[in-house]
Amino acid sequence: MEDDKGCRGHVLLVPYPSQGHINPMLQFSKRLASKGLKATLATTVFIFNSMKPDTSPLVGLDTISDGHDSGGFTEAESIHTYIARLEAAGSKTLSDLIIKYQSTDHPVDCIVYDSFLPWALDVAKGFGLIGAPFFTQACAVNYIYYLVHHGHLKVPVESFPVCVPGLPPLELRDMPSFIYVAGSYPAYFEMVLHQFLNTDKADWVLVNTFYELEAEVVDTMSKLCPVTTIGPTIPSMYLDKRVENDIEYGLNLFTLDKSTLITDWLRSKPPSSVVYVSFGSMSSLGHQQMEELAWGLKQSGFQFLWVVRASEEDKVPKHILKLEADDEADHNEKSKKGLIVNWCPQLEVLSNEAIGCFFTHCGWNSTVEALSVEVPMVGMPQWTDQTTDAKLIQDVWKVGVRVRVDEDGVVRRGEIEGCIREVMDSERGKEMRRNAKKWKALGREAMSEGGSSDKNIDAFVSSIKNRRA
Ligand code: UDP
Repeated sequence: MEDDKGCRGHVLLVPYPSQGHINPMLQFSKRLASKGLKATLATTVFIFNSMKPDTSPLVGLDTISDGHDSGGFTEAESIHTYIARLEAAGSKTLSDLIIKYQSTDHPVDCIVYDSFLPWALDVAKGFGLIGAPFFTQACAVNYIYYLVHHGHLKVPVESFPVCVPGLPPLELRDMPSFIYVAGSYPAYFEMVLHQFLNTDKADWVLVNTFYELEAEVVDTMSKLCPVTTIGPTIPSMYLDKRVENDIEYGLNLFTLDKSTLITDWLRSKPPSSVVYVSFGSMSSLGHQQMEELAWGLKQSGFQFLWVVRASEEDKVPKHILKLEADDEADHNEKSKKGLIVNWCPQLEVLSNEAIGCFFTHCGWNSTVEALSVEVPMVGMPQWTDQTTDAKLIQDVWKVGVRVRVDEDGVVRRGEIEGCIREVMDSERGKEMRRNAKKWKALGREAMSEGGSSDKNIDAFVSSIKNRRA
């Protein structure tokens, strides 16, 4: 049955309220819409009010509540209370939203929800809808959490290395941080394990990766819990170019710096000469680490573009500011050795030919973005899945190096300088670039017509279109 707009089937997509979780789900929404479904992204009221949408009209926007409509996460007493309130208020307002659409021409057929929100499946099933968790992290990471959740891997882990199919043996530091640093962030640890509370009742288990990138672990996990790979979920312009006008994510929770300043600055640089540095939307470095990073960048001698969110700005060491001030004395913006911005259009920056290396915290989106535009990486993981992603980057896909942390938990300037030089200026660095090219091609193929992810998405779309047939 078609509704008044000729759409067959309506999917409501519910992301976890953070930038790194909204981006891939927004992209997946656009993809579904391009294949003839109506897609509505339902963020929390707080996120909806704080984001600066210039989103494609392909995707509708709506809201649920996390119980903190005026301040979001920052308003909560603790991580634990935030997650509990998100579940209570989220379940109620998601139900209200489904009921609201029932009396329109496009009732909801399917709920795609972030796997951090397993309660959304209960809501979907209460209305007899199709329910599909959307895992935003690497399949290897999901598989580790699956093993822990089902008691196949005991935490604290008693003996190393841990073996995951398709991965080299994993040492303690390669495990997700909630395992690596025993007892850290118990509420988040519980949340990532609870992703598997009810997956056996889900109609689909969607994973934001592509088959060729993690074939062995996808095959192994599928024997226990069938997974459907649907990535990479970056704008189509960087992949198959089939989704019209899909050139950027389009929803920023942070204020973008003037992008002309950034692109003008990059345009003045030779190819592969700039180090792009970013730690994503959540990670926060200590003062000492910021100092070491600043020195490492400076000592490497390469130009750098460094994203420092406004909330972190006071940690930028004075000598880096001085570097900028000195150059400004030339009245020549373009001569700056380092440019610091609060937030940038990351994919656009990464795909600029001036970028030679991505100094990254190894967030999954950042990792996939770098792979998709063939930029080699220096990985400096901070927490959660980033430690495992760094292992994949260095030892599986061989597209980067991971920094060594010293006994005080700090990555020193010499190490930072050495890793940057290795990626920017060594034979191994050239090999990383060649490998990155291969992964980029495979990612594009996966999303192109008849590719592994494209076929999976088509099957998912058909199941929704056929529901009302
Ligand atoms: N990002 C951006 N501009 C920036 C820094 C990051 O648009 O200046 C985007 C980046 O492209 C990615 C997301 O923010 O899509 C960060 O997600 P990721 O999983 O890498 O890390 P998280 O923020 O979840 O730690």
